[in-house]
Amino acid sequence: MSGSDQDPQSENNADVVQMHVERLSQEVLELYRQVNLFYRLGDVFGPGLAPDEICRLLIKESAKVVRARSAQVVLDDGFKVGSVPSQPASRLKVGIETLEGRLGEIILYDKKAGFFTAADEKLIRAVAQQAGVALENSRRIHGLVRQNQALERLNAELRAIDQMKSDFVSNVSHELRTPLSSIKGFASTIMQDSEMPLDVAQEFVGIINEESDKLIIIINDLLDVSKMLSGHLKYNLGVQPLEQIVEKVVTLLGIQAEAKGLALGFDLIDIARVNVDATRISQVFTNLIANAVKFTDTGTIRVQQWVAENRVHISVADTGIGIREDVLAHIFDKFYRVENVVHTKEGTGLGLALVRGIVDYHGGSVDVRSTEGEGSVFTVQFPLAQ
Ligand code: ADP
Repeated sequence: MSGSDQDPQSENNADVVQMHVERLSQEVLELYRQVNLFYRLGDVFGPGLAPDEICRLLIKESAKVVRARSAQVVLDDGFKVGSVPSQPASRLKVGIETLEGRLGEIILYDKKAGFFTAADEKLIRAVAQQAGVALENSRRIHGLVRQNQALERLNAELRAIDQMKSDFVSNVSHELRTPLSSIKGFASTIMQDSEMPLDVAQEFVGIINEESDKLIIIINDLLDVSKMLSGHLKYNLGVQPLEQIVEKVVTLLGIQAEAKGLALGFDLIDIARVNVDATRISQVFTNLIANAVKFTDTGTIRVQQWVAENRVHISVADTGIGIREDVLAHIFDKFYRVENVVHTKEGTGLGLALVRGIVDYHGGSVDVRSTEGEGSVFTVQFPLAQ
């Protein structure tokens, strides 16, 4: 039978069958692409990738699957990667979704109009889903790593505090034992020598008196710090001229400075009335100036008071040993003493902790600038009285 004699009905059937076959083979091909894709994606988005690596892989794999020219991934946390062409004719936008919610989106671009098909969208959705799972895992892992690092830091801090407490106990025991041994030594010498001339006995009693003062200062500092930590340190506030408090401390410590050959001076640039507890504030300046004297062997100690921006500033500047930059942040911690001074200078590491606590209570602040080998400047500032 020639072609022209063919039954139109059967010719029509053949077309339909061929159409079905074509559609089916198209679907089989599509399925094959999907299976192949899933098979490969498992390896592509392997564990241990960082979020930016996952996003870049998502772009690479998606572009490969649909042969798009360019793509961009935008995450909801603001992270962006990829590029947008100047005048794309086609655009395919697919959300990066997981069971826990949306993480962002991928947008693919092409210059040809009508480039992306519904099947492409399905495939990209599958890739984006895999990337979403990988992103979530990566975020979880990074979160765990961060938590772990924070715990390690905390642990190291706790160990350091523990070490500091042990050092403190041995240090305070030493600080108490030294004056106590001296008191005991001089007292028993006086007791055993009934013939001791009065002037020698008086000199010894003078030493006993001085050493007892040292004990009282240490014990008072200990009590104050413990009261401050439990919030029981009492303050009697009253409006008064700050320069009078500072002046008194400078005069009192002038004797110690002079004994070391140091020039201690007070430059009063501006007077200032403040609402403070005079005893506590004098404790602040006693600690700062006594430290300046203790850690300076030659040169000067200058105390200055001035007013700026409704606050009074008082600086204590010395030409002493200075403080290493890496320990500056710690010197206001309770019990903290710089390693190289622990065995050479007296101290308990409580003074600056008290200074900061008292200054904070008065709405003020204290900071320090220092250069090792050149000296230190401690500056305290308080609000002026209303
Ligand atoms: P301490 O009883 O040891 O003086 P502080 O709390 O007063 O305790 O000071 C803590 C540490 O800060 C000191 O041990 C010292 O190392 C350092 N420091 C404080 N003031 C000065 C200063 N003016 N010059 C150099 N170092 C200082």
